[in-house]
Amino acid sequence: MSKIPVGVLGATGMVGMQLVHLLQNHPYFELTFVAASQRSVGKRYVDLVNERWSHASSAPDMEVSSVEDISRALSVCKLIFSALSTQSAREWDERYAQAGLGVISNASAHRSCSDVPLLIPEVNPRHLDVLALQKKRRGWNGFLVCKPNCSLQSYMIALAPLHDLFGVRKVMVTTLQAISGAGCRHASELDIEDNVIPFIENEEEKSEREPLKIWGRVGEGGIEGDETMIISAHCNRVPVTDGHLACLSVSFEKKPSLEQIQAAWREFKPLPQELHLPSAPHPVIRFFEEENRPQTRLDRLEGEGMAISVGRLRACPLLDVRFVALSHNTVRGAAGGALLTAELIVKQGIHDKTQSDICATGRELSLSRD
Ligand code: NAP
Repeated sequence: MSKIPVGVLGATGMVGMQLVHLLQNHPYFELTFVAASQRSVGKRYVDLVNERWSHASSAPDMEVSSVEDISRALSVCKLIFSALSTQSAREWDERYAQAGLGVISNASAHRSCSDVPLLIPEVNPRHLDVLALQKKRRGWNGFLVCKPNCSLQSYMIALAPLHDLFGVRKVMVTTLQAISGAGCRHASELDIEDNVIPFIENEEEKSEREPLKIWGRVGEGGIEGDETMIISAHCNRVPVTDGHLACLSVSFEKKPSLEQIQAAWREFKPLPQELHLPSAPHPVIRFFEEENRPQTRLDRLEGEGMAISVGRLRACPLLDVRFVALSHNTVRGAAGGALLTAELIVKQGIHDKTQSDICATGRELSLSRD
């Protein structure tokens, strides 16, 4: 198939750079448009990211456009990855979708909208069905799909097969989150050397709300969250460069043995693997027997940053079981997760359908797994 032209909004930021890197030599996509704020417009991308580019390959030599230049994006792109800061994403994610482009966003601005899928391709691929309602309600020519908060990607994937089999009821989670999670601008302002900061703005609220939507179902009025589940989150910023680690205690409707949990992780074959999506890791969950793993620095690049690592599985005296989960925040938690979502969208043919086709064939988009 010929490659699909794509653009990156916020290409000069932490997530944007990761996206630009992952798009180089991608089998489905070709990068044709990069955009950022007025500060960056008209400059060469390679010069702007120069000292911050941390990949072996060199940054592409392209001119940076303004996010306001939607007509140029429309003339050279079919899909857009948005890595804009929350405030600017609130306006621009919608305007690009309205103009006729498919938008996959990393920002939190539209995550709580009931007609916007909040997608982890391994967990809730069927939520793409809600795009039919999105078109009907908003009349957009394009569409908008969001990726959830970075800190919950590790344990939502670990909990997915357990929830299917045993029904997750309560989760108590403490995260230890990397500096890069704060973005280029804020990371340098953190007083993080020899320090742990027990507060990340809005992060605990997102960690407690977003999983309920991800585990919800598509109803007539949009995605209905699973309100039977209770999550309590503590989110901390710690002095590591990349990788969010999470310590969890979990209770279930049907309490599993530790062996059953390990078997569920071992046998987990989510849709991205079945569809052979290029960014799908094999396996998606790596289980560590060692009592001191996973560790952030050693294990964050498991599966090229797309796999999640779990370990320290043991009984919990308060809830049923506890364990530790780790994922790379700018890869699995952001750019790589968005790319996998786009691959799923392409594999399902959604990018090629006009939105009226999506409306007419909403059921046809149903996937094999909840
Ligand atoms: P970042 O490093 O601060 O980058 C922000 C990007 O947005 C830059 O390219 C910046 O362009 C652009 N931008 C800022 N204000 C703008 C405006 N008014 N108009 C147009 N462009 C504007 O942030 P990040 O960490 O990459 O995060 C990007 C998004 O992903 C955020 O919504 C964040 O919440 C989300 N996210 C981040 C992570 C992570 O681990 N970092 C994980 C998951 C999700 P200039 O360079 O020109 O200023």
